[in-house]
Amino acid sequence: MKIKDRKFFRKKIKTIFVISLLIPLISFLSGCGGKKEQPSTDNLTNLLQRGIRPNEMGMVMVLEYHRIEEEEGSYTRSIENFKKDLETLYQKGYRLVRLHDLLSGKINVPAGKTPIVLSFDDSTGGQFRMINKGGKATIDSECAMGMMEEFYRRKKSFGYKALFNLLPSLFDQPKYKQEKIKYLIENNFELGDHTMTHPMLSKLSDEEVQKEIAGSVEMIKKIDPKARIDILCLPHGVEPKNTALMFSGSHGGTSYKMRWALLVGSNPFYPLYHYRNPGKLIPRVQVIDYDPTDGSGAEGSEYWLEFFDKNPELRFISDGDPSTICAPAYMESRLLKDKLPAGVYFVGY
Ligand SMILES: [Zn+2]
Repeated sequence: MKIKDRKFFRKKIKTIFVISLLIPLISFLSGCGGKKEQPSTDNLTNLLQRGIRPNEMGMVMVLEYHRIEEEEGSYTRSIENFKKDLETLYQKGYRLVRLHDLLSGKINVPAGKTPIVLSFDDSTGGQFRMINKGGKATIDSECAMGMMEEFYRRKKSFGYKALFNLLPSLFDQPKYKQEKIKYLIENNFELGDHTMTHPMLSKLSDEEVQKEIAGSVEMIKKIDPKARIDILCLPHGVEPKNTALMFSGSHGGTSYKMRWALLVGSNPFYPLYHYRNPGKLIPRVQVIDYDPTDGSGAEGSEYWLEFFDKNPELRFISDGDPSTICAPAYMESRLLKDKLPAGVYFVGY
């Protein structure tokens, strides 16, 4: 060995030695002991014995309501049907979750149940109405909030959660708008930006698009500075020409950053860590009845609920443990491991 080579060799040995010392030290400091902790399969064995076949690689839905009124109609769900919807979803094993949690892959519903999100567009009066009861402002039992509250009182496990995509109409009762927004925030409901004038964003200039989106953020924050607005609900489900403006922009001193943009139609979707996840543009399912004789209401809620009844293997079924993604083993090839929330592992069966 030449002297130069020998020097190089010695240096290399030194480096290897230092690295070999550092690895256990780093592992020790990061608290993982260098070994990945394997999740227990006790829960899974127990579920399978009970006849529950979890599938957390299955599809989920975000339902979409507009007006809630006495009579059923176009973009209008009747009060009677809304009450039935809650009952149907509950009976079929759906449980409410927050959209933020669903889209972040942090899904926590009991074993055997399916997460679902309710979303309400256009902040119409029938969604959230206050009435005067004995001199006290109370939530009308015939508006969506009132019906959800009443249902939750009877069936706590269903949950009391929803997303409201707001327009400046703010539920059509100007004197209660502050109180309503405060109630929604305090009760952990989510608020979305549905723009100021509900335009076709594709027809607007870049400046106008930002004015619509930033204007809504400013309006909501003025009512309650605690409001957190990072979901854009696209009016008519239409994107602006400059699609980047859906996610960030500014106007009149207000800037916005949106994590997701919501579409109008018309299908369920796969969770964040599935290779077919839709990314930042999230489809939804309109709540409408399906008539197979003329095809009306196809790709609406009744259609998809029946679809999952007939194809249970495509539906998300929880294992009740948020730290594991449990599904038939062959589905592991569809998993995007880098999208799993920290500390969450796949368990196949
Ligand atoms: Zn709308």
